[in-house]
Amino acid sequence: MTDPFGRTIDYLRISVTDRCNERCLYCMPEGYKGWAQKADHLSADQIVDIAAAAARIGFRKFRLTGGEPLIRADFLKIAQGIGALPGLHSLGVSTNGLLLAPMAADLARAGVRAVNVSLDALDPEAYRKLTGGDFAKVRAGIEAALAEGLMVKLNCVLLRGINEDQYRPLIRFAADHGTPLRFIELMPLSSTDVLTEANFLSVFELRARLHAESLLEPLADYRPGHGPARYWRDQATGAYLGFIGAITTGDFCANCNKLRLTADGKIRPCLGRHGELDLKTVLAAGSDLGELLAQAIAQKPEDHEFTQNYQPARPMTAIGG
Ligand code: SAM
Ligand code: SF4
Repeated sequence: MTDPFGRTIDYLRISVTDRCNERCLYCMPEGYKGWAQKADHLSADQIVDIAAAAARIGFRKFRLTGGEPLIRADFLKIAQGIGALPGLHSLGVSTNGLLLAPMAADLARAGVRAVNVSLDALDPEAYRKLTGGDFAKVRAGIEAALAEGLMVKLNCVLLRGINEDQYRPLIRFAADHGTPLRFIELMPLSSTDVLTEANFLSVFELRARLHAESLLEPLADYRPGHGPARYWRDQATGAYLGFIGAITTGDFCANCNKLRLTADGKIRPCLGRHGELDLKTVLAAGSDLGELLAQAIAQKPEDHEFTQNYQPARPMTAIGG
């Protein structure tokens, strides 16, 4: 399926819940109350039905995310359902890693092949301050996933003045574990105290700093997975470093390949624009899901509105990060 701008859209990112067991300062800090009603969440069967409809019209890549997807009690049922779809090219999970260690073997058995783990600090105290979580569990999760043969990528949102001192230890950790590390620019996706210009650190600035400290070799053709990162190799450590600069990379949207399914059954053509189509009503009416997905593809905008004073109406956790 091709959108009006000639981009092939074959990737569905599914938020299975907007709840989370961490409290990242930039995502849903302590005291956050923007939850959807749990009763509004799609059931496991509904999620698999939607993914199957997407597969029938050409979607080949699926990612389960949230909120924290692994807190859903029926998560493996969802993964198994999607893992068994005909024509599937890849099934990935985005997680904070807290529950990954005990689940890694089951995920691999369910057909999950790739896991993206958020890791914003390596120092346990800094990690706890930023996320409320326990770094030892996340580390165990990353190592368990690697031991199961899953492809692991690390994601880091660097905030100026908060965790910017963590990038070198994180790069070393990524090199030691043979996992690509991606730096993601802070995006205006919810309303939190650290979503300010003062905390924003562009990937351009970070790359310039890294370049000054060691040498970065551009990897024009390296694209593990199907994400928007552009990669460089850090000569000092050998680490593969990805940079996701949604705000400062001019042609960031040029290769967009995805739609997003929200935890409460809306299809979102673009993370950085408000438009949504209601899939749940179509599901309840037993109508053609594929047709609505095709409409969403036809409505994909050329680019996001993050740099045009985009105001988040609904948090990223609901939309699916
Ligand atoms: N809980 C899982 C996790 O943390 O990986 C999956 C959901 S989380 C919303 C997905 C990704 O979105 C994480 O890598 C997180 O760092 C990123 N994220 C959340 N809020 C963000 C923001 N305001 N700007 C940039 N990235 C953000
Ligand atoms: Fe939870 Fe992930 Fe958001 Fe952190 S980034 S609060 S782990 S959903």
